[in-house]
Amino acid sequence: MGSFQIATQFFNGLSSGSGRTAEARAAITFALVNSRTSYSVSLMTKNYTGKCLCGEVTYIAEGQPDIVAQCHCEECRRLSGTGHTVGAMFNSDAVSITGKLSEFNYLSDRGSKVTKAFCATCGSPIYGKNTRTPGHLTLTLGTMNGTSELEIEVVIFERDRPHWDRLGEDVVFFETQPDWKPEN
Ligand SMILES: [Zn+2]
Ligand SMILES: [Zn+2]
Repeated sequence: MGSFQIATQFFNGLSSGSGRTAEARAAITFALVNSRTSYSVSLMTKNYTGKCLCGEVTYIAEGQPDIVAQCHCEECRRLSGTGHTVGAMFNSDAVSITGKLSEFNYLSDRGSKVTKAFCATCGSPIYGKNTRTPGHLTLTLGTMNGTSELEIEVVIFERDRPHWDRLGEDVVFFETQPDWKPEN
């Protein structure tokens, strides 16, 4: 029985005239404190949700990622079309995915099998997995909602990072798409 139900039963008992004894008061306090404790525990088991560009693929990942990593390897650069990927690794059992995925497999330098999964409709990269880390998959952070609490903890294949994948001091920033077009 959940502590919320226990507390409700005590309140129901009181309202039907059982009398407000010291014993009942103590029991209610205990039940409420207990229910508050389980509430904060359930907040800690956070779910991360995400979706692809077209919305066909969605996912839920339960709990906190094992690690959040940025990778500059050649495969990640070609996969993303930019200088790196950023991914959050979870236990595979903690992740459920809906929607049609297509997969691409290749062998890593170390001979492990790497699988990359994409939305079959819009091509958004959704996750990667590697036989070196069985039972785990890495969700792409750009497809994830509500990532304000996550930080990149490690950068790998730094030796393969293109120089343009770190911004210089002269870069101009716009809050949104600027009103700019090429002159000819
Ligand atoms: Zn899609
Ligand atoms: Zn990589």
